[in-house]
Amino acid sequence: MREGQAPATDQSAAQELDALLTGIYGAMNCNLFNSELPGIQVQFTSGARYAGVTQVCNGEVTGILINADTIRGDSTEARADYLAGILLHEMIHVYCIINGLPHYEGGKHTPEFIEAAADHGLFYDDFMNTNFLMADRAEILK
Ligand SMILES: [Zn+2]
Repeated sequence: MREGQAPATDQSAAQELDALLTGIYGAMNCNLFNSELPGIQVQFTSGARYAGVTQVCNGEVTGILINADTIRGDSTEARADYLAGILLHEMIHVYCIINGLPHYEGGKHTPEFIEAAADHGLFYDDFMNTNFLMADRAEILK
């Protein structure tokens, strides 16, 4: 593919995937956060160093980027779990931001973040300080 100029079909397919991702965000926001989180756009990206990132401008959450390159797992279901885990992780950041809770300091997730994660269906895994596992897939993805 030539740089900077994606074919029209790829463009609309990407927009469709972003719309699906934003829809999943909305469903998880309703199920897990009582729709407390802001209605923001969630988009796939690639080539980044992170798995996911919450975008903030002037203290306001503006969006979430999910790095499609980092999604892993040896089955479609495992990859779906991984994707949902990344998205939920970023949603915990959003939750902390809108509630004025410290969430990331000195290269580490804060105790407040870890507590909020546990309250919303993510188990904290000490490894690398960034690994979070979904507590109950059936509950979270219902
Ligand atoms: Zn994080």
